[in-house]
Order: sequence, then C-alpha cells, then structure tokens
Amino acid sequence: MSRFRSVLARIIGLVDTARDEVPNRSETRSSLVNDELEERVRARTAELMAANQALEAQIAARVQVECALRDSEERFRQLTEHIREVFWVYGVAEERLLYVSPVYEEIWGHPAQSLLDRPLEWIESVHPDDRPRVRAAHLEKLESGVFDQEYRIVRPDGAVRWVWDRGFPIRDAAGHAYRIAGLAEDITLRKLAEDQLRRQQVELAKTSRLSLAVEMASTLAHEINQPLAAIVAYAQACLGLLRKDRIDPRALTGALEEVVNQGLRAGGIIRQLRDLVRKHPAVQTAIQLNALIHAVIHYMQLELRQAGVAPRLELADSLPMVLADDIQVQLVVLYLIRNAIEAMNETDGEPRELVLRTTLDSPSTVLITVRDTGRGLGEEAAARLFQPFFTTKPSGMGMSLSVSRSIIESQGGELWATANPDRGLSFHFTLPVHSSHELSPAP
Ligand code: ADP
Repeated sequence: MSRFRSVLARIIGLVDTARDEVPNRSETRSSLVNDELEERVRARTAELMAANQALEAQIAARVQVECALRDSEERFRQLTEHIREVFWVYGVAEERLLYVSPVYEEIWGHPAQSLLDRPLEWIESVHPDDRPRVRAAHLEKLESGVFDQEYRIVRPDGAVRWVWDRGFPIRDAAGHAYRIAGLAEDITLRKLAEDQLRRQQVELAKTSRLSLAVEMASTLAHEINQPLAAIVAYAQACLGLLRKDRIDPRALTGALEEVVNQGLRAGGIIRQLRDLVRKHPAVQTAIQLNALIHAVIHYMQLELRQAGVAPRLELADSLPMVLADDIQVQLVVLYLIRNAIEAMNETDGEPRELVLRTTLDSPSTVLITVRDTGRGLGEEAAARLFQPFFTTKPSGMGMSLSVSRSIIESQGGELWATANPDRGLSFHFTLPVHSSHELSPAP
C-alpha cells in the first residue's frame, strides 16, 4: 500500500512537474504564433496599402482620363457646334445616323434630333429633281464609305438651298469601315454666284455677237453711198426721159422701181444700225481690270484647255480702277486671247505661252498686254492688221481687231500691236484711270 502510495505520489509529482512545464512551452508557441501573426498582418497591411495606393493611382488616372474625355468632348462639341458645316456620323452596322451637329437646323430647317429620330427625313428634304441621284449615291456610300454630292434641299418654309455633302469612311484596325463621318455645307451663295456668272457669260456671248454686228453694220453703212448713188443715177435718168417730149410712162417704171429698191435697201441698213446701237449703248463705269481678266479667263477656260494653253497672269498689285464699259473691254480681251490661241494653233511643236499683263503705264493710264508665241506677222499683214475684213484665216471675218480698236478708242484708250523679239505678237491697249483713283504724279 505504501509502495502504491509512493508510486502514486511519484506520479502526482510527475504530473505536477509536467503541469508546471506545460505553461512554459505553450507560452513559447503562442509567442511564435503571435510573431507569425503580426508578421502576416504587417505583410497584409503592406499589401493592402500597396493595393490602396495602386487603386488611388488608378482612380487619379481615371479622373484624368475622364477630365481629358470631357475636355475632348467639350472641344468636339464646340467644334461641331461652331463650324458652319453640319458634321454627321453614320453607323454602318447600325444602319442609321448616330450624330448630327445642331447647325443642321439652321440649314435644313428641322431640329437635328428629328433627323436622328426619323432618318428618312434627310432624303425627303432633298429636292425631287435631285433625289434619285442622291439616293443612288447614298446606297453607293454604304458600300464604299465615300459620299460626295452637291444637291438642293427644300426647307419646310419652301426655300430651296444648295448643299455640298461629303463623307469619308472611318476604319478599324482590320480596315473595315464601321463609321462614315461627313460634312455638309450650305453652298447656296456660291451656286447663286456661279449662276450669275453663267448668265453674265451668256450675256457676254450675246454681246460679242451683237458688237460684231454693230461693227459690221457700221462698216456696211459706208455702202449706203452705193444705193444713194444708184438712186441719184436712176432719178436723173428718169428726169432726162421726162424732159423729152413724148415719153411712154412705162419706160420709167423699171428705173423708178430701182429707185424704190435702192431707197429701201439704204433705209434698211440705217434702221438695222440704229436698232443695234440702241440695244447696246456703252456704259462706262469704274472697273477693276485684274478681276475682269480673271473673269474672261474663267469664261474661256474650256477653249484654253482644248488649245493646251495655260495663260500666265502678270497682274499688277493695287492697280487703280479704270473707267470703261465692262462688257466691251471683256470683249476686247476675249478677241485678243482668241486670236493668240489661233496664232499659236498655227505653229507646230513650239511652246505655247500666253501672257496677260497689267501695269500702271502712267498716273492716268493702265496698260494691258496680251503676248503670245504664235506665228507672228508678215510685213503686209502688219500694215493691214486693224483694217475691217482683213483676215488670213480661211473662215475668218477680219472684224475683231477693227472692232476692238474702235471699242478701246471710244473708251479713251489706244490699241496697237508689236512683234516680240523672239516669237509671236503682243497686243497692247490702254484705258484711262477712273478719276477718283488717279494717282498724283510723284513730286
Ligand atoms: P479674224 O480673226 O477673223 O481673221 P481679226 O480682225 O481678229 O480677224 O484678225 C485679223 C488678222 O490679224 C488675222 O486673220 C490674223 O492674220 C492677224 N492676227 C490677229 N491676231 C494675231 C496674232 N495674235 N498673231 C498673229 N496674227 C494675228
């Protein structure tokens, strides 16, 4: 029993010892765990802080991008809202307009939003005469991404306007056009100006024929002497017969009929001349010669292109206005250019150079020169150049130069020709400076 007790005491002692020892070991472990935990918390905190910093940086970048986007949107808005042209974007996949700038309303007369809501409104506003062409171009645009049309639109108030509408494809990296962006511009004023120019050109062409007719009629007026002389001769013959005693009146009939015919012929010529002159009286106004030359070149562009002639303009800066009849001076320039083209057409393989020059010749005169590299002139031709009906051309009339000279002289100027030192001829004419633009002579 005592042995049992001592064993038990020993066991209890061991257990106690063990109990005393246990808290020590678990303390060590717990401190290890703590350290580990702390380490992990530190690492996690560092991670979280890094993530937080990255997040902050991302947010800052995003805010920056948003600001930049807002700025760029604002710039886009300002650009599209302040340009005169309507800016539009068409979505190819969406098959509809995605954006139309507000100026659309100013030109088309409908709010831009109504076009986005009702895409057909666009084609419905095209003038019925232009609609088939524009519709075909629109279908073609869906294929090619390209659109370039001038057409008329009819506004809700019935007013017609001209627009120039063009679009270009916007492609993705694979080259596929996913948007078409375009600009539509109101070109009504330009069209009206073109129309006016065309009407002026028709007028010029008419006047050119008319003026030629005037000159012809005035030249023919010389011929009035002929019928007058014939009338006098027939009348004298009749008188002679009447003075004879027994005269058969029938003998007078033929001569008197001739008197009537010749009288009618002379009267006809005079009437014709008077009518022509009355229809086109010279109107002298202040004109800008450089602009006039540009207008004639524009009018003759087809003729010049066909002849392979590109005129070189050497026009003086700040040329004073001249006092002249606009249409008549245009005619002179036109005749001189046409003659130059014809003279150069007669040369083979030589360079064709046509120069139009304006200079201030004196404080009170402007000088215009038309120089060509044509075949030039022989001596006899040079002497007869300005004579009516002088021509060396198979179908020439030989009138333009004499008409031109009388026009220029009637405007207070002079027209003459000189042979160029190398090749061709130069025609020169002067016109008086409009008095309010006359330059005072240098002191
Ligand atoms: P047309 O052109 O009908 O012959 P013009 O009066 O214009 O009548 O010209 C008369 C002639 O003067 C022409 O036939 C031509 O021989 C000559 N001529 C006119 N301009 C030129 C020129 N630039 N170069 C050479 N000859 C010219």
